[in-house]
This record gives sequence, structure tokens and C-alpha cells, in this order.
Amino acid sequence: MEKNFVYPGDYVASSVEVLPGFGLYAEGDEVRASNIGELLVDKKNHTAKVLVKTRIPRLQGPGVVTLAMAVDSSQNAVMLDLVEWDSKNFSFIPRGLTGVLYVSNVRRGFVKDLSEEVKIGDILRVKVLEVKKDAVSVTISDKNLGVIKAFCSVCRHEMIPTGNHLKCINCGHVEKRKTAFDYGNISINEGELL
Ligand SMILES: [Zn+2]
Repeated sequence: MEKNFVYPGDYVASSVEVLPGFGLYAEGDEVRASNIGELLVDKKNHTAKVLVKTRIPRLQGPGVVTLAMAVDSSQNAVMLDLVEWDSKNFSFIPRGLTGVLYVSNVRRGFVKDLSEEVKIGDILRVKVLEVKKDAVSVTISDKNLGVIKAFCSVCRHEMIPTGNHLKCINCGHVEKRKTAFDYGNISINEGELL
């Protein structure tokens, strides 16, 4: 068994080599991760799965810091899938509790274009502001909050920091984000950073 840490969208293997199990999906001839966690590859049986495991705190109310994935956006807000809060293991809940990041909570100061701060598919570290019946309002305006992993909008490969921007490791495309200060340097035990 080989182990390493994967994020949603990460390339895992060719679909010829590996049958995708929990937390993985096949896209064309590629197997990619659909969840955050430890990748477990069983070479003998040509299978792989994601063991979702971290020390994210329970999403119990205002002030709690947790992870989220951007799933939709409008001019004024980004919709997020928040991590599950009633379990030590966690997974993104596609149809569960929705997080909302309003443009006013992205950064201190004026935001001209929300799509230059957060894009769909980004993984973010967010802080809960208010828990309502239908949605959880969050902020990323602090230094430790924001995008911690982003994918190129042209080719979907990972982006690395370069000055005040992010650059695609594959095609060189440059984009902007509101990143957390430690973008690109996230440890496996994300919970320890919170
Ligand atoms: Zn690219």
C-alpha cells in the first residue's frame, strides 16, 4: 500500500492501472480524487481509495475555522460545500449544509471582481460568521484564511504561488486569488494549523 495526501481534482492514476474506490472518480482515462484525505493504493488488486481523515474541529458555530470547497458563484457570493462536522473523519457534503461567502467577507477593502478572489473548485480555509437554518455564512478576510489550493481554469492543473499571483505548473497560466498566507505549504494534519 502506498500513501500520500490528495485533494479534490488531484490526478491519482491512469484508469487502466486503477479502479476508483471511495473518494475517487474516473474522468476519461484518468482517475482523480473527489475528496481530501490519504490516498491508499492497493497495487495487487489495482484499486485505490481515499481515507478521509483529519483533525478538523466540529462546525459548531461562529468563530470555528474549517475547510470548504467552492462549488458555485455569482457576482456577490460564492457557494461552498463545507466539511462534515459530526465526525472525526470528514468529507465534503455535496447536498448538505451550504456555506456562503459574501463579497464583503473576502478581504478588507473593495473587491472589484469576485472571480479574481475565488473560483469554483478551489479549496478554502474559512471561518464561520453565522449559522442559519439554510446556510452558514463564512469569512476569508483574515491572513490565515482564504484559498489553500487552486486549480488552473484553463487546464485544471495545480497552481503555485508566484509573487502576488498563482501560476499553473502545467501551462503557465497566471490567475489571482485571495489566498491564505500558507498557500502551497499545507501539512497533512490541516487541523493542527487551525
Ligand atoms: Zn494550466
